[in-house]
Amino acid sequence: MSSTEPPPTPVAHLSDLPLREDLRGSSPYGAPQLDVPVRLNTNENSHPVPEAVATAVVEALAREVISLNRYPDRDAVALRTDLAAYLERSTGLPISPEQVWAANGSNEVLLQLLQAFGGPGRTAIGFTPSYSMHPILTATSGTAWVDGGRGEDFALDGAEVAEQVRSAGDGGADVVFLTSPNNPTGTALDLDVVEAAYEATSGIVVVDEAYAEFARRGTRSAVALLPGRPRLVVTRTMSKAFALAGARVGYLAADPALVEALLLVRLPYHLSALTQAAARAAVSRADALLATVEATMAQRDRIVEQTRELGLAPVASDANFVLVGGLADAPAAWEALLARGVLVRDVGIPGHLRVTAGTEDETAAFLTALRELVAHGEVVARGEVTAESSVASGTLGR
Ligand SMILES: *Cc1c(COP(=O)(O)O)cnc(C)c1O
Repeated sequence: MSSTEPPPTPVAHLSDLPLREDLRGSSPYGAPQLDVPVRLNTNENSHPVPEAVATAVVEALAREVISLNRYPDRDAVALRTDLAAYLERSTGLPISPEQVWAANGSNEVLLQLLQAFGGPGRTAIGFTPSYSMHPILTATSGTAWVDGGRGEDFALDGAEVAEQVRSAGDGGADVVFLTSPNNPTGTALDLDVVEAAYEATSGIVVVDEAYAEFARRGTRSAVALLPGRPRLVVTRTMSKAFALAGARVGYLAADPALVEALLLVRLPYHLSALTQAAARAAVSRADALLATVEATMAQRDRIVEQTRELGLAPVASDANFVLVGGLADAPAAWEALLARGVLVRDVGIPGHLRVTAGTEDETAAFLTALRELVAHGEVVARGEVTAESSVASGTLGR
């Protein structure tokens, strides 16, 4: 190209492109990422990867680099074997490697599920408020989305869920999303809700257990329901409890036949050799990584207790975050916290903000800032007994 040629004219607007009709006007996923001292808005694990684990990951990657001229194991058999062993240990339930599938984050697992079991002419349902990626992934796969509802206190009841699953789309939902513990409300589901959803559809039921490791004692994983239910899927991730969000590793447990279906839609070599090696090194040191889980749960419980003492209405949490209700004006409270250097998430539920349980210091910074707001009357608790405070007292189904 000679220097006298004009540069190519850039395409000015997205609307100039022949974009799929059903994607026009939609907006990309994006939690606002601001550069502030205390970031408690995306439910990451606030604890860095422990030194010993980091060293093991680096050594595993180093061993892999020399053979990057070759494609990785397409089926990630060694990693799936390690993940099956981890799941078996943590749930006490038998899981074989053939029942496990892994991809770049549980988001890719979810997309592959939709590519195989959703698509044009099919319908997926989720129960709002829940994980905002479920409807987005559903839309990108050309699947119709139905916004299912929850009770006033965010609870889900088996019979009501079954009814909504049956009446979704033409002839019922083909894909059902249940999130347990739920994001953004935080509470885990009773397994009878999962069973009711399963009985109500001939499609698949996906239980997104991204936060399972943080659940309160006695919470049962939907992994327990897998035997005899070939259309049930439980998804997990290394992004939260394992403190490995940057590595992008998610996985699922299901019937081996369902895993076979995903081989039809996955990209060949979707999981790089580096990702597989890093994940294996991390899973083999699960105990060291999961040591931060107890600490995080303690901070979560501290947020629940102290926000309740401030007259607010935290929702019972089985996750590494708390949905705090009882705020007079959530957007104003979000702004005021930000002005004090604390970034939390306004998930669009009136009167509520979601805050990630961080390190002890981060949690202290949040609670101090919140206490100041309440003291200055900037965040006026509603005071009266509301639906939120009945949720806080533990009546939410779990
Ligand atoms: C954070 C989160 C995930 C994690 O997705 P990855 O792609 O594994 O990072 C999945 N589901 C829910 C409900 C989440 O909140």
